[in-house]
Amino acid sequence: MAENDTSSTTSAQNSGLGLAVVDWFAVHARALPWRSTYDPYQVWVSEIMLQQTQMERGTEYFLRWMQRFPDLSALATAHEDEVLKMWEGLGYYARARNLHRAARQVCAEYAGQIPQDMRQLQLLPGIGPYTAAAIASIAYNQDVCVVDANVERIMSRVCNVDTPIKAKATQTRIREVCQDMLPLGQSRNFNQGLMDLGGLVCTPRSPLCPSCPLATWCLARAAGVQEERPVVSPPATPVYITMATGVLCHAGRFFVQKRKADDIWAHLWEFPGGVVEENEDPADTVVREYMEETGLHVTEPEYIGAFQHSYTRYRVTMHAFFVRLDADPRTVELTAAQEYRWATWDQVLTLAFPAGHRKLIAALKQSGMPGHSSGPRHASHRTQC
Ligand code: SF4
Repeated sequence: MAENDTSSTTSAQNSGLGLAVVDWFAVHARALPWRSTYDPYQVWVSEIMLQQTQMERGTEYFLRWMQRFPDLSALATAHEDEVLKMWEGLGYYARARNLHRAARQVCAEYAGQIPQDMRQLQLLPGIGPYTAAAIASIAYNQDVCVVDANVERIMSRVCNVDTPIKAKATQTRIREVCQDMLPLGQSRNFNQGLMDLGGLVCTPRSPLCPSCPLATWCLARAAGVQEERPVVSPPATPVYITMATGVLCHAGRFFVQKRKADDIWAHLWEFPGGVVEENEDPADTVVREYMEETGLHVTEPEYIGAFQHSYTRYRVTMHAFFVRLDADPRTVELTAAQEYRWATWDQVLTLAFPAGHRKLIAALKQSGMPGHSSGPRHASHRTQC
């Protein structure tokens, strides 16, 4: 909060603000698929999907997900590979694995009924205080506030908060103001109203203040500093990583391995590879990594191309090669994976891979792989696969 206490809103003002949000939502609510029934399972999936994901993209995935897993039981009985494939492209795959585990737990412990109790909700995998509040409020209309990035931005502007938004004291105060604003019995509409207001009106840049139901109360607007709120800390310095990976095809099948459970890409599939060491040629990295991770000796790396992807603060360049076996496959000894397969190309397309590998697979698909004859097939390893 601003040091000067006169900049804070009072409880009486807060109740007016809360009702203004609810009234605005009644007219301007976005038509989102999970809002037609407020089914707890749908609310839960939407909340998990929309974390770190844009609304449009999240909605697209949500609709596809609901076609395949229309209820908790369909999700609970699905194979994890299929769950991850349906999540592929959204990133942060722990969300999908936790959703899957939690669905199984709700079926086993709560007869398929998602709990209403905040404490019980937080005992489920992947559900922290935010998601528990969102389910309790949006699905069950309990009087709890839900503070996401949109709400933080609105509150930091309405109250003209000049301290870093992620600071603990700021977070505590914003939560208190938000809870104070919440009109009792209208939590579902209030919380969603704030989320939509943040998405449509009080946007990160160029907020549409003349259209805002909170304009008369907004202290940042009055001070002309709305674009300077919230106060954010500088972004973390990017870390650049160079990796290499090898596509091994033998007798028409591709070698793929599934990462271990404690890995950053846990349970996702990949072509073996790893980080390029200092002064190492990426082609040599592939040969070395195959030996270290699988015990397979591969030779003659043939360059496919470089693929860029980012996660959190990491900026990865992945060099990809076709490789071949120096002899018939011997016993595979996995050190970095829990499972391997010799998969047909069509099977490869059904497995879930991390972002860099998905770009590689898309490029291979476009250039024409076995069973996919469109495009050039000039690479010698491909034609001999
Ligand atoms: S008046 Fe402007 S800055 Fe203030 S809450 Fe509304 S849109 Fe955001």
